[in-house]
Amino acid sequence: MECRLGCGACCIAPSISTPIPGMPHGKPAGTRCIQLTADNLCLLFGKAERPQVCHDLFPDEEMCGKNQAEAMAYLAELEAATRP
Ligand code: SF4
Ligand code: SF4
Repeated sequence: MECRLGCGACCIAPSISTPIPGMPHGKPAGTRCIQLTADNLCLLFGKAERPQVCHDLFPDEEMCGKNQAEAMAYLAELEAATRP
């Protein structure tokens, strides 16, 4: 599937443990990435500074669901299940 433009769930719900430009310690779960625009697009898309973890994440029907709310719920559940 294609990424749903303007969704941004995977840039908000999960924690990211590697540095993001502007967030040197990554970000906690449930916090918007500083690189996510108000309309939920990535300011670093296509740029070398985009974190590797973001390059490596591909849209997937199970993760993305039918809308942003479903994706947020799935990712929050996954985050809770994998919290150390
Ligand atoms: S959760 Fe899926 S559809 Fe939403 S921004 Fe991430 S990859 Fe795109
Ligand atoms: S850098 Fe871009 S793709 Fe990665 S979490 Fe932030 S907004 Fe999302």
